[in-house]
Amino acid sequence: MADRQITGLAGDARAVPSDTLDAFAGSLGGSLIYPDDEGWADAVSLWNGMITKRPAAVVRPVSTQDVVRTVDFVRENELELSIKGGGHNIAGLALCDEGITLDMSAFKGVEVDAQAMLARVGPGCKLGDVDRATQEHGLATTLGFVSETGVAGLTLGGGFGYLTRRFGWTVDDLEEVEIVTADGTVQRASRTQNEDLFWALRGGGGNFGVVTEFVLRLHEIGPEVTGGLIAWPASEAEGVLDLYRRTVESSPRELTLVVLMRNAPPAPWLPESAHGTPIIVMVACHSGSAEQAQADLAPIKSHGEPLADLIQPRTYLAQQSLLDATQPRGMHFYWKSEFLPGLSDELFETYRSQFVGLEAPANQIVIFQIDGALNEHAEDDGAMGNREAAFACVMQAMWKGDDARGDANREWVRSAWQALKPYSTGGNYVNFQTADETDERTQESYRGNYERLEAVKAKYDPSNLFRINRNIRP
Ligand SMILES: Cc1cc2nc3c(=O)[nH]c(=O)nc-3n(C[C@H](O)[C@H](O)[C@H](O)COP(=O)(O)OP(=O)(O)OC[C@H]3O[C@@H](n4cnc5c(N)ncnc54)[C@H](O)[C@@H]3O)c2cc1C
Repeated sequence: MADRQITGLAGDARAVPSDTLDAFAGSLGGSLIYPDDEGWADAVSLWNGMITKRPAAVVRPVSTQDVVRTVDFVRENELELSIKGGGHNIAGLALCDEGITLDMSAFKGVEVDAQAMLARVGPGCKLGDVDRATQEHGLATTLGFVSETGVAGLTLGGGFGYLTRRFGWTVDDLEEVEIVTADGTVQRASRTQNEDLFWALRGGGGNFGVVTEFVLRLHEIGPEVTGGLIAWPASEAEGVLDLYRRTVESSPRELTLVVLMRNAPPAPWLPESAHGTPIIVMVACHSGSAEQAQADLAPIKSHGEPLADLIQPRTYLAQQSLLDATQPRGMHFYWKSEFLPGLSDELFETYRSQFVGLEAPANQIVIFQIDGALNEHAEDDGAMGNREAAFACVMQAMWKGDDARGDANREWVRSAWQALKPYSTGGNYVNFQTADETDERTQESYRGNYERLEAVKAKYDPSNLFRINRNIRP
């Protein structure tokens, strides 16, 4: 086999001798694959179809020892490395261009210790893998709204979902990790060992090494919750947003409410006459008793004349995949996000005005309620920070790759973002940053915690081996 051109750490293309690559492949329990090999398409597949990056080779490790060998190999040969968890990152951070991608998909284990209320989770798991395993014990940890998202990227970037109001960011449920750092050593980090590294991993992304195991705290949840969607015509938006604000201000932490506006999809749960017309939707998840849920959700269910009301008792697992179909893999996606400290009339007016005359079929702005437990921690309790966030606001566009509206969609997102930015806490979510976002946006995300992150980066990854991420420079 001929030598291969692989991107080096300095961005240069370097020829790596075939016998060097063969010796490395032979040292692995897993495999080293190239573009013509079986499994390649899966290994480089990403959720966001807009990303065109392709690595020169993919390593598929099956053990921590394989990860150590890979880290040693890329460091010694000064090669570019990316790490793929679930491949859901919107900026395509799982892949590098012509470098080596470490595809962690074989790390699928979930071990539940129901007594200790802990789960040991492999970094190749999707959220659904974890929820299915923990729900067998009536337990759950704080994970996101779409079950196909990877646990690794979500957790390392902070993480939020329907349980955030009760238990905080996903990183507030993180108890321990096993990680292979840039020097090729296997370390454990927790609140009592390698505390600085653990602090940085609680939000600092893939900057510090390759995580080979997450230990997450569990809570009693389900098996049933009360949840689902309810939709009204957008002509009702003013009243619905007012109801949303009144409800979120007074509801217990068991209830999480999300609100969004968009043009109605051609979904079977909506009347055909509404398809393509502007709508406003609330998504609810109530993890308290059915009686409590019924009482807390009554004002919403009895408001106006909804086009559809799917809020009902359902399994927690069904709730966790309720929105999956709205985010189909392979479409082109472009987002911007801000954290909001609260809601105001002016904010809602600006929000509603983004939809006047909007033709794009799938553009939306989603406001997720997240206030509660996360606000009770100090700003520097973990790198994630953003402890004054009460809502996450995401402006989203989605279109087919051959749709000529791509540029207009991106422009709509940017313009909505500029209009809504004045209502932000000043912080944003690193996990929602797109490929065109700058280092300044990453600094804005970590704000007061950024300098401390730089110090931990300098200690554990001084040569910036782990750089295909929202990069903290050492
Ligand atoms: C449809 C959709 C819905 C979402 N919903 C939510 C939500 O409800 N809540 C929420 O908090 N976020 C949500 N997100 C954002 C999500 O958290 C990020 O996209 C996250 O990066 C996805 O993780 P992943 O493992 O799939 O990512 P990947 O693309 O595989 O990786 C992303 C980053 O994580 C790093 N990484 C991955 N694995 C490892 C590892 N083992 N060790 C070290 N670094 C690693 C990589 O270096 C890379 O920088 C959503 C995203 C999508 C696309």
